[in-house]
Amino acid sequence: MQPRRKILILYTGGTIGSVHDEKTGALKPVDFRNLRLLMPELDRLEVELSFASLQTPVDSSDMSPAEWLEMLQIIDENYDTQDGFVVLHGTDTMPYSASALSFMIQGLGKPVIFTGSQLPLNVIRSDGKENILTAVEIAACNENGIPKVQEVCIFFQSKLYRGNRTVKISAEHFNAFDSPNLPPLAQAGVHIEWWKGLHKPRKRTQRPRFHTRLNAAVAVITLFPGIQASVVRAVCATPGIGGIILRSFGSGNAPIKDGIVEELKAAIDGGIFVVNVTQCLSGRVEQEKYYTGKALYDIGVEGGSDITAEAAVCKLMYLLGKHTDMERVRREFRKNLRGEMRKNDDE
Ligand code: ASP
Repeated sequence: MQPRRKILILYTGGTIGSVHDEKTGALKPVDFRNLRLLMPELDRLEVELSFASLQTPVDSSDMSPAEWLEMLQIIDENYDTQDGFVVLHGTDTMPYSASALSFMIQGLGKPVIFTGSQLPLNVIRSDGKENILTAVEIAACNENGIPKVQEVCIFFQSKLYRGNRTVKISAEHFNAFDSPNLPPLAQAGVHIEWWKGLHKPRKRTQRPRFHTRLNAAVAVITLFPGIQASVVRAVCATPGIGGIILRSFGSGNAPIKDGIVEELKAAIDGGIFVVNVTQCLSGRVEQEKYYTGKALYDIGVEGGSDITAEAAVCKLMYLLGKHTDMERVRREFRKNLRGEMRKNDDE
């Protein structure tokens, strides 16, 4: 008989562990040590569970690189003794945290499955129980001891997604996430049905590399008709800024008659890396398709292919934490590092 899989549940906050504050009525994360009391079902799983928590669990709107580092450290410290990790996290910024950890852990050989809920666990109709139970089950899946999932994923409602491909699509429905540019990796019904696309499971003899340096000096500019050049100038002039994610129209297009492109050119000439991602939910940037995108290409804006803005923010923080040379950042950004995008020359 196979030994029971060891899974660490890491609680970081979010609705799943929140209760209504007595004074204000607003939802606030609480200490989660009583998870077992709230969920006696956990004891019936054929796994050996252990628990950890961020020192201060937060609503995920308060997540920052400091919390990502704390999560990273907990995973690093427990990596050799655990078979997998389930991270309980608020839904609002889950795709950012999942993306960040996917970049921060290089050569991951075990599952890191994020999940959470739209209703707190102590609410009778909560979606949290199902999500936790299936996330644990997925984290325990293996073939002859080799974990089936060897990447950072989000499991929510019934689907398993690659974390750095995911976006939050609903503030109220139980199916809160989607990965519009990559089909889900698995679907949980009566059985767990594995779809194509998981990173190929393999026996890994080496520990992953845990990267602890992130540089948060990035900004996101969302274009809209009528955006003023002075707004773009102000962002580009932020002291220390190293990279800008430009959320453009359609396949990577921008207004070109109002001085925006000139501001971006000055920023790029001054050493700021600018990457173009689309505001569309799906599809990819092709800067050379229209003259309004070509103008960006010509000044050295990097096309971000089909990467999400969430993953682009985290990839840039990771790369700026590693490299100061902008050409190096550009070369690395172009690579598909953790399955986060199609490369520009992929079909
Ligand atoms: N505001 C909550 C959070 O992201 C929402 C949730 O968990 O669903 O922490």
